[in-house]
Amino acid sequence: MRLCRFGDSRLGLVRDGDVYDVTAALSALGSHSYPFPTGDLLIANLKSLAPAIEAAAAGAERVSLSDVSLLPPVGNPGKLVAAPVNYLKHLQEARDDQGVHHNNQMHEIQRIGLFLKATSSLIGGGRSIEIRFPDRRNDHEIELAVIIGKVADRVRAADALNYVAAYTIGLDMTARGPEERSLRKSIDTYSVLGPWMVTADELGDPSALDLELTVNGEIRQKANTRDLVLSVGELIEFASRFYTLHPGDVLFTGTPEGVGPVVAGDTIRATIERIGSLEMQVVAA
Ligand code: MN
Repeated sequence: MRLCRFGDSRLGLVRDGDVYDVTAALSALGSHSYPFPTGDLLIANLKSLAPAIEAAAAGAERVSLSDVSLLPPVGNPGKLVAAPVNYLKHLQEARDDQGVHHNNQMHEIQRIGLFLKATSSLIGGGRSIEIRFPDRRNDHEIELAVIIGKVADRVRAADALNYVAAYTIGLDMTARGPEERSLRKSIDTYSVLGPWMVTADELGDPSALDLELTVNGEIRQKANTRDLVLSVGELIEFASRFYTLHPGDVLFTGTPEGVGPVVAGDTIRATIERIGSLEMQVVAA
């Protein structure tokens, strides 16, 4: 299944370029009161909800994708986990670059581990990326994003894909500068997910997906997930050794070589094989 969230927090099933409004299926989640359960309820129940989603699609209102405003496919992620440098060629590119931005911790991912992005930075395809610090260089980073589907605590890499609910396209936007990554990459609108999520059963093996990012039509990044230093399974193993992953947590798997600057007025188009394309405008904040 390809599922999107859109408009006023509606749930959509995406088929052939159209969105079927299947919000009615969410009623099976019941009502909750404070304190709300940890994690994202829709993602936690994605498998059991599938029949209700299919049923709702049968009589659903059909809208063109171009007529909806897309929200991030995960409504309530508990954390956005991100891999700093997880493609060898990007590591080399970052080491070669003597700019101020990469003065901290440019080492192998196995040594420095992962970082967190603020959930408040998250937007979907219906918004624009807003540049708050136009005097700095602001970079695009296309990444395969993994949405965790069930509680994962010290999971082995070999079992880890069983904990994945869905995949989506991630943009890990970055303002360069001396501050910690977690701050520079947590600016409002600097985490993008979309345009929809593709369930793990539909996407299949995530280990050989083509990725491509263009800015104003010019190719900047072109790679394949087979060149990940730590695979999706190994990243889940690494992360869950330190903290429990909950349904709805998102794992940005790292960006390949070719990162470059964007400015207000630019159009970013990010494409990942078997997921789709996400087009984002860059604007002044
Ligand atoms: Mn990144």
